[in-house]
Amino acid sequence: MLKITGLKARQIFDSRGNPTIECDLKTGKGIFRAAVPSGASTGTLEALELRDKEKDFSGKSVLKAVKNVNEKISEKIIGQKFDSQKDFDSNLIKIDGTENKSNLGANALLSVSLSFSKAFAAQEELELFQFIGKISDNKNFLLPVPQLNVINGGKHAGMENDIQEHMIMPVKSKNFYSAIKASVESYHELKKMLKQKFGANAIALGDEGGFVPPIENTHDRLEIIMKAVQEAGYEKEILIALDSASSEFYSDKKYNLWGKEYSSDELVDYYADLASTFNIFSIEDGMHEEDWNGWQKLNSKLGSKIQIVGDDLLVTNVERIKTAVQKKACNALLLKVNQIGTLTESVEAAKMAFENNWNVVQSHRSGETEDCFISDMVVGLGASQSKFGAPARSDRNAKYNQLLRIMELIGDKYWGSKI
Ligand code: PEP
Ligand code: MG
Repeated sequence: MLKITGLKARQIFDSRGNPTIECDLKTGKGIFRAAVPSGASTGTLEALELRDKEKDFSGKSVLKAVKNVNEKISEKIIGQKFDSQKDFDSNLIKIDGTENKSNLGANALLSVSLSFSKAFAAQEELELFQFIGKISDNKNFLLPVPQLNVINGGKHAGMENDIQEHMIMPVKSKNFYSAIKASVESYHELKKMLKQKFGANAIALGDEGGFVPPIENTHDRLEIIMKAVQEAGYEKEILIALDSASSEFYSDKKYNLWGKEYSSDELVDYYADLASTFNIFSIEDGMHEEDWNGWQKLNSKLGSKIQIVGDDLLVTNVERIKTAVQKKACNALLLKVNQIGTLTESVEAAKMAFENNWNVVQSHRSGETEDCFISDMVVGLGASQSKFGAPARSDRNAKYNQLLRIMELIGDKYWGSKI
């Protein structure tokens, strides 16, 4: 049993300079803090991120969500005892009382849910990843194979009608440390090449720490990425992952990429062509979040060879995952805690994916904070893959640095390279 003795939320700023919420939860063991990330290319069916929509910060302040924690949630939980994360989160869901957390805000709920888990881990004298292992019935801790977004596009780079994320993925490295080393060295080689070829403007960074060079198509972006990987000496270790975030360039049943229109079938062919040219391991949100036919075509054409990941499609929601399994729409889950709003529901989403033999990719949001909860979460779940951005800027590197600390505890041979 864990007794909550205090709760205080506040407004802080995320990596894009937008307001977000953090929460301090107090128990006999101390004060436990968690902060909530925020997306830019969000799925329509994500749980509601409550923003004030008033004059300050262009409508983005979160003072209502803060007040909801400090008044409505505090009132119901301070002085109370809870015997598990599940018990605590179901109370939060009850206090909110809506399907998509639109009453108090999924951001309000998540700040409390995550800080509670840190408190409960401390109460049980467990590391956070061990606690997450416990609540997800997993004993097989794994350091993840990272997907690192080295060329940022789309909304994360101030562009439209563009593929969003071009990632390197050290799938064939021998252990976690080698994987991080290969990735960081390739990132620096890419920086050098881009500067040489396009000048200083090409190495400005997007929201997830990747470069934003003046290259307007994915083929040419991947070509220079692979050249850099080769130059760094890691072409045998590193494969490619993409996140198209295609709901951002879909309208009137057409996909509009770099001024050219594609039908669903044509877009699937475009991906097949890319996959035959480059060593692509994974494609995320290749199709629009409601283009189920397109997803089925993509998965039936490429799903036996490469990973087909649902992000906006699934929104970390077990009902959407069930539908996707039944329709054979994809074969992997992108797991984002703030899409659903509590830790328990996120763990349930991951477990459902595992039960269906899907891979799980634990993901950051494009707007992040210094909180590295997701590093412990991916190891605790044994999820085998992470998507935490490029190895740049502390909002991203905080996550890699925490993985390095966990590596000291569990050893670097326990990692997700069997994917
Ligand atoms: C994504 O689309 O996977 C992503 C991390 O971006 P955002 O947080 O903007 O949704
Ligand atoms: Mg995505």
